[in-house]
Amino acid sequence: MRIILLGPPGAGKGTQAKLLIERLGVPQISTGDMLRAAVKAGTPLGAEAKAYMDRGGLVPDAVIIGLVRERLQVPDCSRGYILDGFPRTAAQAEALETTLKDLHLSLDHVLCLEVPSEDLVSRIAGRRTCRNCGAMYHLRFSPSKREGVCDACGGETYQRDDDREETVRQRLLVYEEQTAPLIRFYDGRGLLRRIPGTGEVAEIFARMVKSLGV
Ligand code: AMP
Repeated sequence: MRIILLGPPGAGKGTQAKLLIERLGVPQISTGDMLRAAVKAGTPLGAEAKAYMDRGGLVPDAVIIGLVRERLQVPDCSRGYILDGFPRTAAQAEALETTLKDLHLSLDHVLCLEVPSEDLVSRIAGRRTCRNCGAMYHLRFSPSKREGVCDACGGETYQRDDDREETVRQRLLVYEEQTAPLIRFYDGRGLLRRIPGTGEVAEIFARMVKSLGV
C-alpha cells in the first residue's frame, strides 16, 4: 500500500506513521528524518539542508525530489510505503506522480491529519525525540518515565532545533502557503481522507486504520 500522510507540523504524522508501518509491514519514508540523518552524518546534503531547516523553510525541491526518487528504488519499497513529510509542494507532488507513473504504480490513499492551528505550537513545543533510537515523546501527552531519558534505549531525549517557538511559527506559515494546497490537489484525485488528529494517539490510530480498512 502506498500512502501519503499529510498535515501540518505537529499534527502527529511521525507518531502515526510509526504505528502504521508496524501494522502494514512497509517502510516509513520521512524526508525530515532523512535530512536530519544527513545533518548528523555531516554530509554535503546535510550541510545544505541545515540552513533551510534552521530557518523553518523548505529544502529546495530538486534536492528533495532526487532524495525520494532514489529511496523509492530501494527493494524494501516493493510492498509499499508511508510517505511522511513528502510531498510538501506542488512541484514535489507532480514529481511523485511522474515517478510512480514511470514505475507503473499509483498511490492508494492520502490521509490528512487535521488539528486546530491553535493547538499546534504547544504540541510541537513539548515534543522530545531520542537522539539514539528516534523514539518520540511529549512532555505532557506521552512523557518518558524519566525526563530526558528514552524509555526504549536509555538514550538522551532532546528538542529538535526547529521545534523552538519562533521556528515553528515560520514552519506553520510555510505549511499554509506551500503544503496545504496539496489537500485540494489530492481531494480532486479522489484519494484524500480527512482524519481528526485530536485525542489519544491510539484513538487517532484507530481512525486511520478504519479509514484504510486494514
Ligand atoms: P519534518 O521532520 O517533516 O517536520 O521536516 C523538518 C524540516 O526538514 C522541514 O521544516 C524542512 O526544512 C525539511 N523538509 C522535510 N521534508 C521536506 C520536504 N518534503 N521538502 C522540503 N523540505 C523538507
